[in-house]
Amino acid sequence: MNEVILQLISLQALDLELDAIDQQIKVHQDGLTQRREASVERQAGIEKLEAQIEELEKEHRTLDLEMTEEQGHVKNRQSKMMQVQTGREQTALLKEIEDAKANVKEKEEKIVGIMAEVESLTSQITEEKNLLKGEEEGLAEEEGTVKKAVAAIKRSRKSQAAARDKESEALVGNLLRKYTVLRERRNGLAVVNVLGGVCQGCFMSIPPQKYNMLLSGEQFFDCPACQRIIYHQSVEEQE
Ligand SMILES: [Zn+2]
Repeated sequence: MNEVILQLISLQALDLELDAIDQQIKVHQDGLTQRREASVERQAGIEKLEAQIEELEKEHRTLDLEMTEEQGHVKNRQSKMMQVQTGREQTALLKEIEDAKANVKEKEEKIVGIMAEVESLTSQITEEKNLLKGEEEGLAEEEGTVKKAVAAIKRSRKSQAAARDKESEALVGNLLRKYTVLRERRNGLAVVNVLGGVCQGCFMSIPPQKYNMLLSGEQFFDCPACQRIIYHQSVEEQE
């Protein structure tokens, strides 16, 4: 095999390993971010429930005041009953008292409903807070684990990167530049094998005469379709 193509192949292998390492780090960090976001969301949910309770308690206080007023009205009308003379006046007062009592009852029922709702919201909050506490403890633990894992990955990445840089020194400047640009534009793959006349980067067929030129393993050139650097190495040679 051509010396330069072998260098390119081994450089790319190291670069792909580095890509995989970076991906590993990203997966760890994305996992943490997701969990943090879930925690923030749960916290916001709790605050919303608390605001709901506050609103209900305000309504409760208003109803209490209205009820006291209504009860006062009932008493006032009842004492007035002693003073009325005619049956018509009496009927009117009785009707007023009846209505006021009905109002009191209605408000009482509303208050009972509100109290039940507050109770259910309160237990919901307790449950959410417990979940949040568990999540936050788990998260703190996970943060420590991820930090250690990432540090270990980064250490091995460092020696890997040093090996990679040493490998790249062997390549002449313009070939390295071409390789770097191709890696950026072609999803990390700059150098690809051609098997059975098909580019393993873009899976297009290479013209037969070009493929014949590659077969010796001594030549390399650009894929006419994807511009990646192509070479030929039989499957047996790769093993
Ligand atoms: Zn191609």
